[in-house]
Amino acid sequence: MNPSILLIYTGGTIGMKQDPVGFDLRPFDFSQILDEVPELKKFGCSIDTISFNPIIDSSDVDAHFWVRLSETIAENYGKYDGFVVLHGTDTMSFSASMLSFMLENLEKPVIFTGSQLPIGMLRTDGKENLTSAIEIAAARRADGRPMVPEVCIYFENMLYRGNRTTKYNAENFRAFRSANYPVLAEAGIHIKYHTNYIRYPEKWGQPLAVKNKIDTSALIVKIIPGLKPEIFEAMMNIEGIRAIVLETFGSGNAPTVKWFTDCVKKTVDRGVIVLNISQCHTGKVDMDAYATGKSLKNTGVVSGADSTTEAAVAKLFFLMGQYSDNKDIITMLQKNIRGEITE
Ligand code: ASP
Repeated sequence: MNPSILLIYTGGTIGMKQDPVGFDLRPFDFSQILDEVPELKKFGCSIDTISFNPIIDSSDVDAHFWVRLSETIAENYGKYDGFVVLHGTDTMSFSASMLSFMLENLEKPVIFTGSQLPIGMLRTDGKENLTSAIEIAAARRADGRPMVPEVCIYFENMLYRGNRTTKYNAENFRAFRSANYPVLAEAGIHIKYHTNYIRYPEKWGQPLAVKNKIDTSALIVKIIPGLKPEIFEAMMNIEGIRAIVLETFGSGNAPTVKWFTDCVKKTVDRGVIVLNISQCHTGKVDMDAYATGKSLKNTGVVSGADSTTEAAVAKLFFLMGQYSDNKDIITMLQKNIRGEITE
């Protein structure tokens, strides 16, 4: 039987076309996608579309959006072999990370893609991104199982694990990278899958469990040389925060001055989870490498290992929704749940 794919259009540049009169960019009716991209008819798979209403620029993504998206996938999980999510590129890494945590026991491909130029423009990158994402969502292994049963981002010839990506380029077609994990597939004349890097379920046949409880009471604090005590203290003491992603230098280093470590310790002692993520994109947090890391470790800060900031934020949102006890959250933060960190 031909594979069946559900195309979920949430918004972003990809779904725009130029108005023939005013030349401004407008979203087009996605149920007419086959008219816009007739190449899709050549696939040996059936493609249905769902368009979010309203469609959004991905800067407006929030917890409700993620719940809606995960529920859309869950409601249609039995009917389709794979899912392609069209999403704005700006926060695509956050959404792909979030969905990777929310969709427990995922055994089907959920491929996010989008484009830097609208699909209705001549030089668009959207057509290739869309057609290859569909091909990947429909791909099967020799045993009939899905080739990539993960939440991924496909962009400019590369398939990445979603929770390992960062949007790092606002201009080039190669907008994403996965600095700490190899690509899962590369599209050239053929799509070459690197199956040794793809996560397959230990045991197939588990029912999908959608974890829709999310708590977004978190903040990113990026430290800078010359940081003023009163500014840092004000950020660490913002009311209503359950967790802080502390973006540190190099391999997880921070100032050793007493006011700084005292402030971090007080924050941790107050019951706020502080997760250490490096400002570097490649490599990992190792709080034992330097005295400056050790002093942070002694305050009770948790290592984020080689996580991206996007995955760290998403994992916190997810875990804070699942657990009320910080001890459980801290234990899970240090575990590799969906391939987001290297243990
Ligand atoms: N601002 C757009 C968005 O993220 C950009 C894009 O789609 O690439 O929705």
